Amino acid sequence: MKTHYYPWGRYDDEEHAPCGTWFGEGSNVSADWESVTCGHCKRRKSRIMGVIADEEKDIVNQMGDMADFMARQDV
Ligand SMILES: [Zn+2]
Repeated sequence: MKTHYYPWGRYDDEEHAPCGTWFGEGSNVSADWESVTCGHCKRRKSRIMGVIADEEKDIVNQMGDMADFMARQDV
């Protein structure tokens, strides 16, 4: 059994882990790199983390846009 890195909670709707491995029966996931045993995940850690960082950046950007939009509405 391998533990893949997956920080987004339930993975029932996901077909593969962030490392690209298909979730089979017996796959485990963890948001804690200490618990991750999948070599693919470990090798792609920086890339996976980069993806997550980008997603978080997008969310922050969207919130910034919204704040700008709201500020303009007040004028
Ligand atoms: Zn993996």
